[in-house]
Amino acid sequence: MKVIVLGAGIIGVASAWFLNKAGHDVTVIERQPGAAQETSFANGCQISVSHAEPWANPSAPLKILHWLGKEDAPLLYRFRAEWLQWRWGFEFLRQCLPARTADNIRQIVSIAEYSRQTLQALRAETGVEYDCLTKGILHFYTDEKEFQQSLPAAKLMRELGCPRQTISADEVVRIEPALAVMRSKIVGGDYTASDESGDVYKFTTGLAKKSAEAGVHFAFNTTVTRLLQEGSGANARITGVEVIDANGHHQVLRADAFVLAMGSFSMQLARPLGIDLMIYPGKGYSATYQITKDAYAPSVSLTDDGHKLVISRLGERLRVAGTCELNGYTRELNPTRCDAITRRTRALFPDACDYDHPVYWSGLRPLTPSNVPYIGKTRFGNLFLNTGHGTLGWTMGCGSGRAIAEIVSGRQPDLNFAFTGMARTKPAAIRVTRPLRA
Ligand SMILES: Cc1cc2nc3c(=O)[nH]c(=O)nc-3n(C[C@H](O)[C@H](O)[C@H](O)COP(=O)(O)OP(=O)(O)OC[C@H]3O[C@@H](n4cnc5c(N)ncnc54)[C@H](O)[C@@H]3O)c2cc1C
Repeated sequence: MKVIVLGAGIIGVASAWFLNKAGHDVTVIERQPGAAQETSFANGCQISVSHAEPWANPSAPLKILHWLGKEDAPLLYRFRAEWLQWRWGFEFLRQCLPARTADNIRQIVSIAEYSRQTLQALRAETGVEYDCLTKGILHFYTDEKEFQQSLPAAKLMRELGCPRQTISADEVVRIEPALAVMRSKIVGGDYTASDESGDVYKFTTGLAKKSAEAGVHFAFNTTVTRLLQEGSGANARITGVEVIDANGHHQVLRADAFVLAMGSFSMQLARPLGIDLMIYPGKGYSATYQITKDAYAPSVSLTDDGHKLVISRLGERLRVAGTCELNGYTRELNPTRCDAITRRTRALFPDACDYDHPVYWSGLRPLTPSNVPYIGKTRFGNLFLNTGHGTLGWTMGCGSGRAIAEIVSGRQPDLNFAFTGMARTKPAAIRVTRPLRA
C-alpha cells in the first residue's frame, strides 16, 4: 500500500520506519529542510516511563492559579481571547479528576513502556548513535512538602510495574555525586534504573537516514496545505494531500493511506475535515551548555523537582529543559525564562559548564488535556492519527510509530491502550503481552 506520513518529527519518522518494515511504500512530507527541526529538535531528552503523571492531576488547578502571571513559573497559562485555549483549559480541568488522572497514567505508562522496549530493540537493530545513556533517571526534591506529595505517585508507578524507588538525600548524592554541592538542600528523591536518556534529534535524523536507505522517500521543504476528501459516512476517504513543494509549486500527492503526525499543527489540518483534535501548543524551553569540567557534570539524567527542569548529559553537552507557557503558537524566547534556567543550572553545577555561551531554544509541545496522544483511526477509512504526544513524545515515540504501522496494516497493536476510533477491549494495564525482538 502507498502511505503518506505528514510530518518528520520523532513521531512521523518512527511511523515511517515501521510502515516501511510492514511492507508499505512510504513517503514522508515535511516543511523543514530535514527531520526533527521543530519540537523534536532540542527537548529534555529523557525516556521517562516512571514519571508518566500528566500535568492534569488533582493538585494542578491550585498550582496553576498560584503561578498565574509569574514570568518564571514552571507552567504559565496566559489567557487569550481564543476559543480553543478556553475549551482546552476546561477539558484540562476535567482531566484533573482523580479517576481520570489514574486512567491517563495507566495509558501513558502502557504506551511508554512499550515504546522504551521498542526503542531498545531499534537501537540494537539499527545501531543509530544518539548519546544514549542507560543510567536511569534520578528525580530530586528540595521541598519537603513536594517530596511527601510525590510518594503516592511513586507507589502507583511501582504498582504499575515501574521500579521507581523512593530514596534518601544521601542516596541521591551517591547515585549522582555531581549533586554534592546541593546536598544540604536536597530532602529526598526517587530513582528509576530502567529509565534512559539520549538526544532525540540525533536519533530521529539517524532513523530518518536508515529509513531512506530502506526505501522511504522524504519530501523536505514541502508544506502540507490541505487534505482532499470524497464520499460520506462509511465511504468517506482522503483522496490526496495538497502541498506546496520545494520549488513553490502547488501539487496534489495521492496515496492509499495517510498518517497525520504534524505535532502542534495537526489540529489545523484535521479541523476542515470535521475532526476535532484537542491539541494546544505548550511552549517549552531548553538550554544547552558545553561541559568544561567533566568531573563536575552529572552523568545520570536528572529531574529537579523544585524548578521543574530535566537535565540530560549528551556526550560533552548538558541539556536542561522545562517550563511551559500556554500562549498560542509563538516560539519567541523570553529572556526571564532563559536566565532562570541558566541561574539554576549554575547553582547546581557551578564548575561544570561554560555558562557564558548557552544555546537557548524553544519548542511547542503538542499537548492534549490528558497528555494521552491520539493514535489510531478517524471516520475516514484511510486517514490515521499519530499526534498529541505532549510532554512525552520522545518517551512514547518509537512505540507510537510501531503501533500506528500495525493499525494501518489492519492489525490491533499488542498493548492495552485506548487507540482513537477503535474499541478498547481490555482495561488499560501496562504489560506488553508479547516480547519484542531486536
Ligand atoms: C522543552 C521541551 C522539553 C521536552 N522534553 C521531553 C523529554 O525529556 N522527554 C520526552 O519524552 N518528551 C519531551 N518533550 C516532548 C517532545 O519533544 C514532543 O512530544 C515531541 O517532540 C513531539 O514530536 P512530534 O513528531 O509529534 O512533533 P514535531 O517534532 O514538532 O514534528 C512535527 C513535524 O511536522 C511538521 N509540520 C508541521 N506542519 C506542517 C505542514 N503544514 N507541512 C509539512 N510539515 C509540517 C513540522 O515541521 C515538524 O517537523 C519536550 C518538549 C519540549 C518543548
